Amino acid sequence: MPHRNGFFTFMANQKLMKFLDSIALFLLFTTLTFSQTDLSYYLPQDITYNPNIPTPKSIIGHEVGEWHVTHDKLVQYMYALAASTDRITIENRGSSFEGRPILLLTITSPKNHQQLDNIREAHMALTDQDNSNTSDMPIVVYQGFSIHGNEPSGANAGLLVAYYLAAAEGDYITELLDHTVILFDPSFNPDGLQRFAYWANTNKSKNLNPDPNDREYREVWPGGRTNHYWFDLNRDWLPVQMPESRARLETFHKWLPNILTDHHEMGTNATFFFQPGVQSRTHPLTPKTNQELTKKIGNYHAKAFDKLGSLYYTEENYDDFYYGKGSTFPDINGGIGILFEQGSSRGHLQESDNGILTFPFTIRNQFTAALSTLDAAKAMRVELLNYQHDFFKNARKEASQEQGKAIVFGDEKDAAKTYHLAEILKRHDIQFDELKNDVTLNGKHFKKGYSYVVPKNQKNTRLINAMFEKRTKFKDSLFYDISAWTFPLAFDLDYAEGVSTANAGAEVTHLEMKIGNVSAKSNYAYLMEWHEYYTPKALNKILNNDIRAKVGLKPFAVDANPYDYGTILIPVQNQSKNVDELYTFLKDIAQENHVQINGVSTGLTQGIDLGSTEFKTLEKPKIGLLVGNGISSYDAGEIWHLFDQRYDITVTKLDTDGLSKTDLSGYNTIIMASGSAGSDNVKVLKEWVENGGTLIGYCSALQWLNTNEFIKLDFKKMERIARDITYEQRDNYEGAQEIGGAIFEAKIDRSHPINFGYKNNTIALFRDTNIFVNPDKQSYNNPIQYTKDPLLSGYISKPNLDSLASTVPFRASRLKRGKVVVFTDNTNFRAFWYGTNKLLMNAIFFREEL
Ligand SMILES: [Zn+2]
Repeated sequence: MPHRNGFFTFMANQKLMKFLDSIALFLLFTTLTFSQTDLSYYLPQDITYNPNIPTPKSIIGHEVGEWHVTHDKLVQYMYALAASTDRITIENRGSSFEGRPILLLTITSPKNHQQLDNIREAHMALTDQDNSNTSDMPIVVYQGFSIHGNEPSGANAGLLVAYYLAAAEGDYITELLDHTVILFDPSFNPDGLQRFAYWANTNKSKNLNPDPNDREYREVWPGGRTNHYWFDLNRDWLPVQMPESRARLETFHKWLPNILTDHHEMGTNATFFFQPGVQSRTHPLTPKTNQELTKKIGNYHAKAFDKLGSLYYTEENYDDFYYGKGSTFPDINGGIGILFEQGSSRGHLQESDNGILTFPFTIRNQFTAALSTLDAAKAMRVELLNYQHDFFKNARKEASQEQGKAIVFGDEKDAAKTYHLAEILKRHDIQFDELKNDVTLNGKHFKKGYSYVVPKNQKNTRLINAMFEKRTKFKDSLFYDISAWTFPLAFDLDYAEGVSTANAGAEVTHLEMKIGNVSAKSNYAYLMEWHEYYTPKALNKILNNDIRAKVGLKPFAVDANPYDYGTILIPVQNQSKNVDELYTFLKDIAQENHVQINGVSTGLTQGIDLGSTEFKTLEKPKIGLLVGNGISSYDAGEIWHLFDQRYDITVTKLDTDGLSKTDLSGYNTIIMASGSAGSDNVKVLKEWVENGGTLIGYCSALQWLNTNEFIKLDFKKMERIARDITYEQRDNYEGAQEIGGAIFEAKIDRSHPINFGYKNNTIALFRDTNIFVNPDKQSYNNPIQYTKDPLLSGYISKPNLDSLASTVPFRASRLKRGKVVVFTDNTNFRAFWYGTNKLLMNAIFFREEL
């Protein structure tokens, strides 16, 4: 029972007894039980605390650890704390999706606060200049908590860390604050923390019950781990698609911290983990010294935990490979990222392999790690500053060897998608230029205004490499997360590496999206090609205003202007709007959605004429999205986010609980993300499909759909027989057969409506499943098919790669009057796979033609 042990150690502490005497408030406490803990349980007791600084309890109304702090109370405390001391300034950097503030506290000595701009400029200059004197320079430490909302000991410990930094007195804290700028991010995930605090608090009993079966420890779907749209924010540091990440990345690049800490929780039976993780799984672009310094910092954690009597471990389970994680992202930016993982009490206390695990115990460990981090920062200050200096100096040397070289990326048909990759580069302080002229490079055509040039000789050249490289060789075959994220592939953009910077025009200082336009008012018809990223948003708005629109199944040309497969036709006559109204309406649509719409005066074309039966009338989508038990909340959340945030398309979230009693006749499309919809729902869904609905299934939903005879799929069977693998090696062996997340090439039949809007004959797909579907006998039923050697980037075992070759990631088949459409791969991965978003849109808008 760790908490009780702590209690007795604490009672034996003479210094503490003195402290108790000095503060009348504490005299009120005569007993300490599981449910009653005071500040002395957590805080160092060999120093004094400024009585003018408000304690957490005085503001939030309960002792730290007694209840789970809600985000609103956390905010309240941080503002109160900042108001009480000149060691802290506070700012709100933005809002989460649910409107919660994304706070940053800057904590340093009052003297440093007065010259903070100078300190920051000197710190940044350190990363830009060959010579630098670090002896008097403050170190910059970024401390962030509970990016997973249901791992709350971090954010609850944050109350104490902030209090300590504001209230502690004596030489140690004075010296620490003189030499450290702490960027303090009290809640990495405001919406998730609030959601979980609500759960844990509403299920708390007066008599705390450690029984793991209690509802308190069994959160309902989707749980508090993720943000509003159910995204894992600890995968978004590199793609920066979520508002929380955008705010913190701005702080990061503004300051380039030397240490960044990320406080998490893991399973209840675990102890405490701090990095370094598994060495063989460190990303090869991370300097070796980074891991050595991580280890050296680890010694400070070890010392503090030894003193506390808490069990811990390092160099197992976790790794430093994917730069989208908070503890790995700093490693490619000259800093040291540190992951902390605490065994979770999940609620207020729970039985575990290590005895009764109390919430206060988990909080105290996190608090201790936060302080040992600052201890390490103080002691290793010059070493870490010099490391950062050398990191950028060496990066400059590498970059200068690529003087005159650049990467060009773009899509001559899709300016918006190109813009969104450029936007990510901007968020990461990567410089880029306009393309000077239209040009063909390495066989690919790049159009001015639709392409950008990234010179390699610049400060963040290593980050550029981390974002653009294709890697297929690895030291280890296990990955904690994805093994590849090559951005131009995720965006399905053309790109050319090693090209001359002579192609560069003016530097892009102010990134703007292309302005949409209608070429001319027409009495006859309007045409919109389908390539631009926001065409589905435009089409949805057109259909929702009861304007008739059709899709062209074949390419054609009007007045020598070519129109590709999937062009949208809007006839002028017999619409609910007159000629002028329609023109104005479409002009607004074009501008809002950054698309080009052309007015044409004739229906006679080269190819299919505008009145041809090859133009099919489109129906407005009425979409249901299955959510709830059985369904992956990540995958469903990505779909919800895509429709709601990107395309302004209404989706009804249909819970799998109670679905069998729901009238589905109002929907023409239902999407089922990875998972199972449960045996209760087979009947209702099947009847709905048979009556004309289109059911779109993803990833592991294919197995459920196949088993329940919605669609007949021919899965490729994989037999895995371990040979010469010992018991000890079994986990590594099995793990190596997983596809943790890699990028593969498929060839596409552009004449098939599922591929409308794509201009190339191949596409890159993200895959993290072992589901292999054999192609249909009829080749025209295989419009997307993996190539014979499909690996583009990332790790896959040889047997899996052999199995994947020539299989199909997409199938569509009839079920009576309806249709079942399936994808083996997630086309909406983590909101940054812009390149495959259109596949789902095609399945929605062109469902009748599949
Ligand atoms: Zn976590």
